[in-house]
Amino acid sequence: MNHKHPHYPHIFEPLDLGFTTLQNRILMGSMHTGLEEEKDGYRKLARYFRERAEGEVGLIVTGGVAPNRAGWVFPFSSRLARPSQVGKHRIITDLVHETGTKICLQILHSGRYGYHPFCVAPSAIRAPINRFRPRALSDRGVKSTIDDFARCAELAHLSGYDGVEIMGSEGYLINQFVAEKTNRRDDQWGGPFSHRSRFAIEVVQAVRRRVGENFIIIFRLSMLDLVKGGSTWEEVVMLAKEIEKAGATIINTGIGWHEARIPTIATVVPRATFTWVTGLLKKEVNLPLVATNRINMPQEAERCLAEGRSDMVSMARPFLADPHWVRKTRLGKDKEINTCIGCNQACLDHIFSRQTASCLVNPRACRELEAPLVQARKSKTVAVVGGGPAGLACSCAAAERGHRVTLFEKDDELGGQFLLAAKIPGKEEFTETLRYFTQMLDTLTVTVRLSTVPSVETLAHFDEIVVATGVRPRELTLAGSDHEKVIYYHELISGQKEAGQKVAVIGSGGIGFDAASYLLHDPAATPDPDRFMAEWGIDRSYRSGGGLCRAAELEPRREICLLQRKTSKPGSNLGKTTGWIHRSVLKKNRVKFLIGVRYLSIDESGLTIEHEGETKTLEVDTIVVCAGQESQTELAADLDTSEVAYHLVGGARKAVEVDAKRAIFEAVELADRL
Ligand code: NAP
Ligand code: SF4
Repeated sequence: MNHKHPHYPHIFEPLDLGFTTLQNRILMGSMHTGLEEEKDGYRKLARYFRERAEGEVGLIVTGGVAPNRAGWVFPFSSRLARPSQVGKHRIITDLVHETGTKICLQILHSGRYGYHPFCVAPSAIRAPINRFRPRALSDRGVKSTIDDFARCAELAHLSGYDGVEIMGSEGYLINQFVAEKTNRRDDQWGGPFSHRSRFAIEVVQAVRRRVGENFIIIFRLSMLDLVKGGSTWEEVVMLAKEIEKAGATIINTGIGWHEARIPTIATVVPRATFTWVTGLLKKEVNLPLVATNRINMPQEAERCLAEGRSDMVSMARPFLADPHWVRKTRLGKDKEINTCIGCNQACLDHIFSRQTASCLVNPRACRELEAPLVQARKSKTVAVVGGGPAGLACSCAAAERGHRVTLFEKDDELGGQFLLAAKIPGKEEFTETLRYFTQMLDTLTVTVRLSTVPSVETLAHFDEIVVATGVRPRELTLAGSDHEKVIYYHELISGQKEAGQKVAVIGSGGIGFDAASYLLHDPAATPDPDRFMAEWGIDRSYRSGGGLCRAAELEPRREICLLQRKTSKPGSNLGKTTGWIHRSVLKKNRVKFLIGVRYLSIDESGLTIEHEGETKTLEVDTIVVCAGQESQTELAADLDTSEVAYHLVGGARKAVEVDAKRAIFEAVELADRL
């Protein structure tokens, strides 16, 4: 008898595909990790996927694999084109198939996004995000590319995969054929829509012919291109129907081309914002559909399925953050889910700078072989001082290894910098990180002492001492720094002090940007998909191709000027894949930037600076100081004096450029050594 899950009946309803059944409705979306190209990478990848399979995800889709050299995302990126390459894929499929999880290989031809000189496209039009101009494929070239897709699928079949996902979205080759913007051909592959969609349809048909009936074919369809000249809704529907006829098993959702200037997965995107698009297509086709983008917790997934917007839900990054997301959900342990906060800092930012992906909240991600959780040989008593990101992560990781941990926090609340970060618009998800750590302290029976500064004598009784006392803001030493107009970022963001209408922000680093967006936000507003879409110009009624419309004009809530002494571009240290979003938000709010300034003084009239050889006074009501941080090392100094050994971690060890990613990484690494 089929027992329904008491809380998430839709998530845990198996999906019968006729020839095979998926154990639940959760798909782990395709994500390149960088392991694909590493030495011994496939063994590492196999362990990485196995961990997620043990976490009971229904279906895994691998990172994109090119069907031929021209389809490489970057030089020598992974490719499956020869029988000799089957063996390494077998390591993955064998390990995953020891569990109830199914796995598909994603076939990705990057087309004009290929970052190499061999890239090809329907027409020789360079992508705005690539310096390489593609070569236009000849008619023969198009046909042999279709054959390469089919050969790749056949090799995937031989490798033991349960199916393939054909990447037809995000602006890659198939998408480039479909959209008029990138396809200017006048042969059978270009011109009217029936010609432009032929490549996509023939790829699916060729793959189906080659792999037989009992093999999953997922087609990732761009349902909302978010670029000018993208597909119209009628075209999306027509293509979906053709893909169904061509023999696909499942249609997955693609939102936005990579070159689109609209955030689609960053934290500023409210949860489940784009599921309406998949919901629209549900009315048009009979195949199971998968919804995607910024679904990170079971409630959103269940709602999406229960409301009939999709038949499955795809999550990619949430499985970096927590490989056991599905199992925890099934067991009713939702509070123990380590939630993906959509920051991109350790996943996509790493990939775009050619480092192996990992996860800010879970530094073991993609390091399953190198940094597995291993029980300590001897259970020790461990004192951790400081309940911010480093202290929380270290306490949990040490307790997980079997140590008996006591966490001391000087404030009456845990969280440290997390508490401030969670108040920044678009960073609200940090509340989930705090919920996760707080829950895990409880689950792992860590003793928590709030409002406590332990003495050296107290600490000396522990086997190990971890000093995670974090940072304090760097103080301004300017004439007039003690003027009442001056407030520090933590005073502003915690709500201790308020800013006036005209504000100068000293320091244009990550925190300066955060302070500016805090000053601009409406404190009464909560994340709202409709407002987000209006502000970024996404048209739910799909009146033109690509689903774009004019973005709503913003009325800035304050007049802000961000300053720095350097002459480099402000915000150049912001995340590689998210910095443009922060810059764009400030620009829309008419924030001014002044670089190369010298701060002179502060008085009743405002902030006086030297800029471009002139002395000027910025007549502002408030000066917010975001001038970096310094380590809090008083406790460390006391321990030194008493010759008591300890470990320093996070901002207390090194304040320069410390962020949650480094703090958590160091904390877990240290816990593994205790
Ligand atoms: P930061 O990025 O180092 O920026 C500090 C700013 O203060 C710089 O603009 C610096 O510019 C200025 N400054 C330094 N010393 C000063 C002084 N004595 N007087 C006046 N200005 C001074 O540090 P942060 O903004 O505090 O951020 C800390 C860390 O958190 C960084 O690693 C940051 O990347 C990270 N973070 C990241 C994000 C994100 O969105 N990814 C958000 C928040 C924080 P000049 O020296 O040129 O004046
Ligand atoms: Fe999610 Fe950030 Fe981890 Fe990436 S690094 S998986 S966005 S929490």
